[in-house]
Amino acid sequence: MAILYRLDRHSSTLLIHTQPAVMEKQLEELKQQLEKQCMINQELQRQNKDLEQRLQEKEKLLQNLDSQYHNLEFPSQSGNEIEPEVRMSRAAVIASEPLPENLEITRMRVKKTVSETNLIIKAIQKNDFLSRLDDEQTAMMVDLLAVFNFKPGDDIIKEGSEGDSMYIVAAGELLVTQAGRNLRSLTTGDVFGELAILYNCKRTATVKAKTAVRLWSMERQTYRTIITNKSKKKREQLMGFLKTSHTLKDLNDVQLSKILDSMEEVKYQDKDVIVREGTEANTFYIILKGEVLVTKNVNGHQKQIRRMGKGEHFGEQALIREVLRTATCSADGPVTCFSIDKEVFEETIPIEHLEVFDDSKVLQEVQVPERPSPSSTLRFKDLVPVPYQEGRYQGDPVTLGVGGFGRVALMTTVNHGTYYAMKRVSKKLIVAKRQEEHMLFEKKILKATQCDFIVRLHAAFKDKQYIYMVMEFCAGGEIWTKLKEVGRFDEPMAVFCTACVVEAYAYLHKKNIMYRDLKPENLMLNIKGYVKLVDFGFAKELVRGEKTYSFVGTPEYMPPEIIKNQGHDFAVDFWSLGILIYELLVGSPPFSSSEPQKIYAKILDGVLKYPPYMSEAAKSIISKLCRPRPGQRLGNTKNGIKDVRHHRWFSSMNWHKLRVGQLDAPTVRLIRKGPCYINFDRFPLDQTKAEEEFSGWDRDF
Ligand code: ATP
Ligand code: MG
Repeated sequence: MAILYRLDRHSSTLLIHTQPAVMEKQLEELKQQLEKQCMINQELQRQNKDLEQRLQEKEKLLQNLDSQYHNLEFPSQSGNEIEPEVRMSRAAVIASEPLPENLEITRMRVKKTVSETNLIIKAIQKNDFLSRLDDEQTAMMVDLLAVFNFKPGDDIIKEGSEGDSMYIVAAGELLVTQAGRNLRSLTTGDVFGELAILYNCKRTATVKAKTAVRLWSMERQTYRTIITNKSKKKREQLMGFLKTSHTLKDLNDVQLSKILDSMEEVKYQDKDVIVREGTEANTFYIILKGEVLVTKNVNGHQKQIRRMGKGEHFGEQALIREVLRTATCSADGPVTCFSIDKEVFEETIPIEHLEVFDDSKVLQEVQVPERPSPSSTLRFKDLVPVPYQEGRYQGDPVTLGVGGFGRVALMTTVNHGTYYAMKRVSKKLIVAKRQEEHMLFEKKILKATQCDFIVRLHAAFKDKQYIYMVMEFCAGGEIWTKLKEVGRFDEPMAVFCTACVVEAYAYLHKKNIMYRDLKPENLMLNIKGYVKLVDFGFAKELVRGEKTYSFVGTPEYMPPEIIKNQGHDFAVDFWSLGILIYELLVGSPPFSSSEPQKIYAKILDGVLKYPPYMSEAAKSIISKLCRPRPGQRLGNTKNGIKDVRHHRWFSSMNWHKLRVGQLDAPTVRLIRKGPCYINFDRFPLDQTKAEEEFSGWDRDF
């Protein structure tokens, strides 16, 4: 018999023989060896411990250095809070709701004492999100808040309900609970429920009065209607001011509107010099508030020439000529101006002789002939669901995706020719969420769309419970899923995906359609790895030069002008393009948080922080697309979408080959081979049946 001992990596192997005398000697030897071995082991263990400790210390040091480096290069958005590196959950969508047609504004105003006003202003300034709103919006809020009294034990807001008001505590104490757990107390000067002034969000906590409570409160419908009307009026007024400028008088409304979108508000204190005589002129100003004194140097003395007020402008020559200022303009009391620099102006519209600028020229592209949809004779009864072939849902119909409104199933035809993705949406849910127009428009757009970068709609059906849209099946799956699988895309992959989106945008914008819901969740890959836009629930047709005022989109992708209710247009799509590039390259969007109001606060701050591995070209295109002023955004400047295509981040892109489908897509390596649903998450069978709905909104569907 031979026993093999293996004590550790360094110990010798021992053989034991079976004769007694020899055995005793051997045993003695063995004992000695064992003892020796034990000592060695102990020593080794001690050394090991020592090494381990040193290793741990080193690791800690490294971690420390790493985070210091990270903070230097890529500090977190809000300073002290640690950012989630990756967005793990799909972004929530926010669908706009119609605003009341007419609302009595004067009746809504509530007079307040000075100390009440101070309390409210302080509360607003203390709040993460509200403090980012501009002076006018804050003033409006102060005006509109009305007072309400509650008894101890009253529920002010209930977890899970839909919010319609925000509150500021005037007096008393309240308790915040979530799922029965006490979270915190609220007292005088605290704000709660503020997200509800933007949209109909679900309340995430319950707020109950602990004592008798006095609250300032305001409803979203009131706030949004008033802010929207104000923004519209302000725009009209500014257009009127611009039209009095001699230099700009030949421009049309679309062009003037673009100039407005590029202009910025600047504030001056009493006596501040706005422009100085003799200096180089490069900015044009309109006075929004206050008075400006115009003076000239006459024999060493400042001589007053005139006084200008609201609506008047100065410095228009600066926009089109190399000139020196011929007078000094200074603020007489506090002044607010709306201004534009020559450089920005030149980017906004061509200034050679200020000829009338034809936007349609810019959008003219080399056109790929539109291919007709393959089958328009598809019948509902010919469609059959495709079942899972294996796994725990084997035999159940394949569900490709579940969205905020519908469920998308994989279908084929009886004679099994082609696969289709069929989106099914409950009509009752659409009515409940007031999404009738969005639904009708989604179908209308998709039906009229023939672009290789947009999913095709082959047919649409309806019955008592549902409406159905039968679309081309994008077998490669969602970009969202692929991005989560690999963490982040390398630049060639991101360039390719973004280029496909740019092509889809060019097509849509030319038809005067804004997309408004760009995000990785709405980008699908076909089997060749080409990217297609799906989900046109938020798309909208808009006349050039006009604005729309709905609150719609996905928080992480929303531009400042939507959050501020200033009215928005096609420029929103370029903002979201910048956010998309960032998310593809980093793995999560630049402005993110688990709390929506924090996302909005970050967007309004507009500080973009780039990780060290991002290329200069990528940083450049993102920062140009994510400019806060819509008129200065790449894609929305004078050469339109061409400026996006010509950006150096796309220098390797052969746009023509992309358009005709001759580029090898780097995304193919993300696509798995196997059953046709292999690139999708799996979903259990949905056995609920929607209620019937007969209001008739879907007559034209
Ligand atoms: P949302 O919550 O984004 O508004 P929705 O209800 O409008 O969702 P869609 O976004 O259109 O629905 O579709 C939901 C999901 O179904 C998509 O994210 C995708 O995974 C899948 N899907 C949609 N269209 C297709 C298609 N043509 N081919 C394959 N899968 C698709
Ligand atoms: Mg979607």
